[in-house]
This record gives sequence, structure tokens and C-alpha cells, in this order.
Amino acid sequence: TQNIRPLVLGNWKMHGSLAGNGQLLSAIRSAWNQSSGAAACDVGVCVPFPYLSQTESALTDSDIAWGAQDISVHAQGAYTGEVAGPMLAEFGCRYVLVGHSERRAMHGETSELVAAKAQAALAVGITPVVCVGETLAERDAGRTLDVIAEQLAPVLALGSQAVGAMVLAYEPVWAIGTGKTASPEQAQEVHAAIRARLAQAGSPGVRVLYGGSVKAANAASLFAMQDIDGGLIGGAALQAEEFLRIAEAG
Ligand code: PEP
Repeated sequence: TQNIRPLVLGNWKMHGSLAGNGQLLSAIRSAWNQSSGAAACDVGVCVPFPYLSQTESALTDSDIAWGAQDISVHAQGAYTGEVAGPMLAEFGCRYVLVGHSERRAMHGETSELVAAKAQAALAVGITPVVCVGETLAERDAGRTLDVIAEQLAPVLALGSQAVGAMVLAYEPVWAIGTGKTASPEQAQEVHAAIRARLAQAGSPGVRVLYGGSVKAANAASLFAMQDIDGGLIGGAALQAEEFLRIAEAG
């Protein structure tokens, strides 16, 4: 947090239902409206594709943005099952996650593909939230900063204008959905390395979010670190009160 406006972004993953989302969205909308937090922090939710229309209706004219969890590199065509950037734009998406560790691990997404997805988002005016992070084996082998550098390389190669329009998220794989959070110092070490690379690439002001078992109880100490500009929140984003308390720490 150095004069960079924080962002707290929920990642619903593959959770939700029309009825449950309706309650969650109206609860966070009304609470965030009444909170003084909106003056200091941006907030958004990344929802499954079928719920974009519901989310748009529920959050239009609020201080909460919304987005998707993936995007095709193609703008249209014979790509069965994919969802294109222009489609996301039609539903008012401000953000899209790219390269979440679950997609890298389970769908074989490479860092080159992740960079291409970031570019596809930028092409339609949507902010890509580029996720990077090491596994426990990589951390234990002392490879954390090398892995992050490799994941960032094709993204930074898109150039400073592109990078300047992105958000990055550092999500250690061993901390996602495990209840094990990186300590503020562990996270800050990696965030500082990411910031140094961003500065080299001419975009020092890009927001770098931390993700991995963030809860209301640990959010403030993480967000207080110099190079942590908010959070990407999985499980805790499914409970309105918990999510709002995290946003208030932003
Ligand atoms: C995530 O899905 O990006 C995430 C950080 O999940 P959780 O907060 O549940 O660890």
C-alpha cells in the first residue's frame, strides 16, 4: 500500500445458485453502500459465466464491480465451450481473472496462454487480473522468485501500456483454499519482487493483490504491507459479512 488504491476482489469459483447469489449480491450491495469503505477501496466479484447477467442486474449503479473467471484468447469462432471477451464486455464485466492456479493446474494453461488471455481482455477494455504463484514443492526448493519471474515474463513482454492496465495477483498455490495463509512478511517478500519487475517494465503503479486463505481476521495485517494492494478472496467471498469486513480492511 503505497498511494495505490486497493482492490478487494471476490472469486466465487464454481459456487452459487440463482437464489443464493441473489441474497449474497443484495447483502454486499446494501452493506457496501452504507460503508465508508467505498471511498478508500475498490471492490468486485468474479462470478461463474451463467450468473453474469444476474450479477449485472444486481450491481448496476452500485460501487461494486463484477467480472468473470476466464476468457478465451479468441474474439469469436469455432471454439466450443469458450467464452469471448466481447461477450464479457456485453455483460458489463470490469475484471476477468486469468491464469488462476486452478486453471494452470487443471486445464494446462501456460504462462504464454495466460498472457494471450490478458491481451484478449485488454482488447475489449476489461482489466485482466493475472494470477501467479508457486507450489509448495517450488517454495521448498527455494524456487519461488524464479517461478514468479517465469510466470510474469510473457505478461511483461506485452509492454508497459498493456501492463499498466492490468492487475496482478500473487497467490501461493499452497495457500489457496487450504486455510494456510502466507505470513504478511512471506507475502511482502514476493510482492516486493513483483513490484521490482513491474518497475523495470515501466509500470510500478500496477495493483498487486494477495490471495490465499484471506479472512477478515488476517486481511488487515496483509493489506498493511508496503507492496500488497488488496486481495483476491475465494472462500471468504461467499459470505457477505466476512467479505465486507475484508473489503473494509482494504
Ligand atoms: C482464490 O480462489 O483465488 C483464493 C485465494 O481462494 P481462498 O481465498 O479460498 O484461498
